[in-house]
Amino acid sequence: MAKLGAWVKEHLGLKPCPRKQSTDQPPFLPSVRRPITPTSFDTPTCLFFRLPYDIRSMIFSIAFGGRAFHVDIVHQERAWQWRGYVCLRNGPRLPSMRYAWLGPWLDACLQDREWCERTGNTPGLEAYRVGAMGFLLSCRQAYTEGIDVLYSANCISIQSEPLLLHLPQLIPLNRLASITSLEMVIRAHHTDRDDGKPSLNLDHMKPILDNVTTHCHHLRSFCLSFVAHTKRSYRHELLDSPALPWNDAFCRSMNLRNMRVELPAMDYWRASRGQVQPMEYHPSEAPAKGPFGRSLWRCLDSEEPSVQFRAIERYPYPPLKLAVLEDGDESVESAGYWLAEGESGPEQQYVTCF
Ligand SMILES: [Zn+2]
Repeated sequence: MAKLGAWVKEHLGLKPCPRKQSTDQPPFLPSVRRPITPTSFDTPTCLFFRLPYDIRSMIFSIAFGGRAFHVDIVHQERAWQWRGYVCLRNGPRLPSMRYAWLGPWLDACLQDREWCERTGNTPGLEAYRVGAMGFLLSCRQAYTEGIDVLYSANCISIQSEPLLLHLPQLIPLNRLASITSLEMVIRAHHTDRDDGKPSLNLDHMKPILDNVTTHCHHLRSFCLSFVAHTKRSYRHELLDSPALPWNDAFCRSMNLRNMRVELPAMDYWRASRGQVQPMEYHPSEAPAKGPFGRSLWRCLDSEEPSVQFRAIERYPYPPLKLAVLEDGDESVESAGYWLAEGESGPEQQYVTCF
């Protein structure tokens, strides 16, 4: 055995295992990693992989794409555990439906899944299974192509703050670079001010957004859901905090196709009452039919952000820019992101999901 160990050390260049990480900190990836995902395949494999890549890609997308996956890490029973499963929050609904789509703040998949485990509801648990592991483990090429599809052709939903704060230390960089659609929940921290009154703290939001900006280069769809309520007090602090300016800077720095931000209900209605301009239409837009035909749009077309009421006929994609350019081009999209009503707060016992 000693000879085998020496041979492995000499020929594979393996270094001694680093000291075990403390169980208090998340299981960070080692700073130096031996790549396990091959970049090319010289030898022909099974018949499936002799198909043109375009055909394989279509098959992968149909088999493993078009869903939302929860990816989280939680500290339970004095150990860190990964959680990965299908998100069933919106069922078969199209994610583009403005007033039917349920936001991440309302997600109950974790509780429902744990209930299925406790009660032995096997069909219920099956619905949460990603169902790709057998294929991924079948051969190295299946893993290489399949794992990329899982990250690039699905929406990745992250709720755990340790994962969001340490994204590049917990998920390999090539996987982060594959993500095209991402949704996350950011929970405000509650602190006491000097006068003893409760207050919200969102300082952790900036490094979270910086992680996404730095590592998710192919991100095209993004949804951020704020959770801020407390039973002690509900204050309109979010709109007065740097949260929206940070979002503005994030939006300007990314090349996104659509972005949504869910504000706690009372902040959303305050934004709609106090800061919004009257309903405005682009010349090519049809007038909105009733309150469900419009939504708040955080417009970043000029240096100073503004909030507009805009028709949702292009939702979740941006509405057209209101000031038609001098050259007559009316098809320029506005820069900015949609605002939506999210967390309902401690006083409201019903769900509005606007
Ligand atoms: Zn879910």
